[in-house]
Amino acid sequence: MKREQVFRQTKRLGQNFLNDPNILRKICAAAELRKEDHVIEIGPGKGSLTEHLALGAGAVTAIEKDTRLRTFLDEKFAGSENVRFVYEDVLGAGLSCFSAGEKMKLVSNLPYNISTQILLKLLDERELFSKIVVMLQKEVAQRISSPKGRKSYGSLSVFLQSCFSVKLAFKVSRHAFYPVPEVDSAVVVLDPLEKPVFSSSSEKTFRTVTRHAFSSRRKTIKNSLGNFFEREMVERALSEAGIDQGRRAESLSVEEFARLAGSFREINQ
Ligand code: SAM
Repeated sequence: MKREQVFRQTKRLGQNFLNDPNILRKICAAAELRKEDHVIEIGPGKGSLTEHLALGAGAVTAIEKDTRLRTFLDEKFAGSENVRFVYEDVLGAGLSCFSAGEKMKLVSNLPYNISTQILLKLLDERELFSKIVVMLQKEVAQRISSPKGRKSYGSLSVFLQSCFSVKLAFKVSRHAFYPVPEVDSAVVVLDPLEKPVFSSSSEKTFRTVTRHAFSSRRKTIKNSLGNFFEREMVERALSEAGIDQGRRAESLSVEEFARLAGSFREINQ
């Protein structure tokens, strides 16, 4: 596609392009870019965020699934030596191959239809990043940054908050995008915790227990977990973790989920 040709955005790829320079600058400011930084961008689209990232960072690697953008991006960035494009599906890409051993930053206006899958992938590959700044659908941003006790607090909030300090930095109107999407957006900053809240040996149990605990939100945690584990084991694990059997999942802090996962693991050993 030549630059002057008309590009038809694909809804399936979440192609709502950002065209407000103030928002682009605010995203880069949230990422605290420095010349030593290597930034991974998921989904450069027509490169509006890429351009701003390349000004602040030392190097940018942008991963785009839509190969129709290749000629356009190659032309637009012909003189930018610190930007490279990789054309592949980020969900199938191992991000460690882009790292030269140093921690990277990830900055992206995510494709919203696969944002949960990408967040889970970033959680699994968290060791690679010193900071993650992502634009998300506002409701997803509120969900992952939600404190306990709210309706929006769920397993994804607990998973991410167990490894990152999660902050909703600012909201963005749908009118900052073209085409205008049906939802508003928000930018979230994820800063890795020094170490995860759960013990290194109980990550798998932590995820399983958390997911099952939120499977029936109206039930007590004892009953939700009772659908998946032996009742006796659930009662013992709750009691050893010092968690009242009558509580609901949304009232538990991330630390309490970690304690509960630790108790399940000990009982099962
Ligand atoms: N960064 C651009 C901007 O802010 O204007 C575009 C953001 S747009 C919301 C999401 C981008 O992700 C699109 O360019 C889309 O083609 C790309 N994309 C969608 N699914 C992808 C995938 N699985 N892997 C890599 N890129 C993907």
